Amino acid sequence: MAENVSIKDQLQKLVQLQQLDTKIFDLEKQKKEIPEESAKLEQLFLSKKQHAEDIKKEIDTLLLKRKEKELGLATKEEASKKFQNQLYSLKSNKEYTAMLKEIEGIRADKSVIEDELLQIFDLVDTKKDEFNKEQERLKLEEQKLSKDKEAVNIRLKEIDQELATLANKRKQIIDLVDSKILAAYEKILQNRAGIAIASVKNETCQGCFMNVTPQDINEIKMYDRIIFCQMCARILYLEEELGV
Ligand SMILES: [Zn+2]
Repeated sequence: MAENVSIKDQLQKLVQLQQLDTKIFDLEKQKKEIPEESAKLEQLFLSKKQHAEDIKKEIDTLLLKRKEKELGLATKEEASKKFQNQLYSLKSNKEYTAMLKEIEGIRADKSVIEDELLQIFDLVDTKKDEFNKEQERLKLEEQKLSKDKEAVNIRLKEIDQELATLANKRKQIIDLVDSKILAAYEKILQNRAGIAIASVKNETCQGCFMNVTPQDINEIKMYDRIIFCQMCARILYLEEELGV
């Protein structure tokens, strides 16, 4: 450390630096979290869209099933007609009774198919209703999502501008800080969640809230060297002494 370095002055500079770094830390965090949040919303939207697609598929399957049933019904009707026509050309009573039974059976089958068809019609109506409502909701959500995205992009640009301004201010301050002190500060900043310097209040480090010894407090006031918190290793200072 250069001999003409005033520790008190250096601590004042570090406090200013910390104010900038706290803002930078917060902005960097936002810069990371905002797109993550945005991606989560987009993912949620896509899963809702998938849900609507699934309803659409269900409808398509039901329509196919409906067609099959309708074909089945037509076949039964044809068979029924054919047997009806044959009914009067039959010679024996036995044959006549057997044919009647056959026709009865076909009617019963038709009735079952008709019931099933009615159920499918109902279900298709319900699903179409559900699909249409879902589409309406998705349309609104998509509009909102695209507006949100715009807002996110604007905010990210703002953050970059703010970060550039802060980087400039930071440069001006670090030019005035002793290189060894700065290196120590930077190292703690990295290791201690963006807070490298902490004030002592009521004999407590405001970084880790552990006690600071009276001996250390006396040493801080002497400004012979930088004093570190024995618990969290942050640089310590006294607000009332620095007037910051
Ligand atoms: Zn501490």
